[in-house]
Amino acid sequence: MYKAFLLKYNEIGLKGKNRNYFEGCLVNNVRNTLNKQGVDFHVYREQGRVFVECPDGYDYDDAVEALGTIFGIQGYAPVYVVDSTEWEDVKKGAVDFVKDYFDDHNFTFKCFAKRGDKSYFKTSPEICADIGEVLLDDFPGLRVDVHNPEKSITIEVRNKTYIFTDYIKGPGGMPVGCNGKAMLLLSGGIDSPVAGYMISKRGVSIDATYFHAPPYTSERAKQKVVDLAKIISRYTGAINLHVVNFTDIQMYIYQTCPHEELTVIMRRYMMRIAEKIAEKANCLALVTGESIGQVASQTMQSLNCTNAVCKMPVFRPLIAFDKDDIIAISEKIGSYETSVLPFEDCCTIFVAKHPVTKPELSQIEKSEKLLAEKIDEMVQTALDTREVIHVK
Ligand code: ATP
Ligand code: MG
Repeated sequence: MYKAFLLKYNEIGLKGKNRNYFEGCLVNNVRNTLNKQGVDFHVYREQGRVFVECPDGYDYDDAVEALGTIFGIQGYAPVYVVDSTEWEDVKKGAVDFVKDYFDDHNFTFKCFAKRGDKSYFKTSPEICADIGEVLLDDFPGLRVDVHNPEKSITIEVRNKTYIFTDYIKGPGGMPVGCNGKAMLLLSGGIDSPVAGYMISKRGVSIDATYFHAPPYTSERAKQKVVDLAKIISRYTGAINLHVVNFTDIQMYIYQTCPHEELTVIMRRYMMRIAEKIAEKANCLALVTGESIGQVASQTMQSLNCTNAVCKMPVFRPLIAFDKDDIIAISEKIGSYETSVLPFEDCCTIFVAKHPVTKPELSQIEKSEKLLAEKIDEMVQTALDTREVIHVK
């Protein structure tokens, strides 16, 4: 049973002062995520690595799975720790490791070595050669193959000695929270949860806004969005989900504006409202799951009309993605099955049969003037009556 993990992270762009900040953020996230298991993991950094010491009785599979959700981790290895760097102890450690951590002792291998302290009395190639020899002496079924080994055995000599064979690919990206916060417009579809996942991968934490239209959209449709927020929160960390009642605004637009412009005008009000909530929540950008040309409201012209109401930057991580590629990510992160549950969406209820695909901004603005009498008050009411659900 492994008692520790060694985590590697991408060092590109992390020189100087940033590095400390980034590492601190990563260590916090690792600690918070692992400690959800209800036992205390000791997480610390040392020489460009993050180490996790595991408490007795921890669940190995849960820990491996949890580490796979933490952005900023390039890869991780369960490690055998020798509490010493004395050469005799290092050699004994390597033998004990092979004895205890491999079921069968007939395989080809290659040694890799790293030293934290360049003044250590052996160089890395010397460590490799000597440890290789010790292992060959102790295990007759082992053979060295430097070109195509079945197993790699890595020895990192730092304040202690760390030995490992399995290296698990991490999710990459940057630690969530190290790059500020954004507001995700989260619907019950396939795309927006994936967009949230992707923006978080770049170290951005998220809050989310969902527009629902009771009684046209049901409690179950809302629950589906809460469930989706919960699924992506495994990666993004806790999410404050703002649920905005959009029914009156939608009805008012429906009754007042040309039907073929409905979706675009509705979208513009969603953006305006989401931006207001975003400002209050200290978000620096909006995020949507839009992708060019996917539907009428996502043509370049429609996107321009939607974008025109925002002062904040709007990030659209999926803008150039095909649906198939988006689906593949949603399957990977576990949101797909929930996204395809057949509940009504507020946008589909009032859609026109023939929505404009090339709306003109001036025409849309003209139509919106028809809403002048009541819309500001309605927007304010929608903001004031929103429900905030803390999802984690
Ligand atoms: P999704 O799968 O994310 O719902 P979609 O392909 O259904 O996307 P649209 O319905 O046109 O596309 O929505 C485009 C984007 O607008 C969504 O990705 C989401 O960011 C935002 N959006 C749409 N409907 C809502 C809603 N009811 N609440 C919050 N955001 C929404
Ligand atoms: Mg949708």
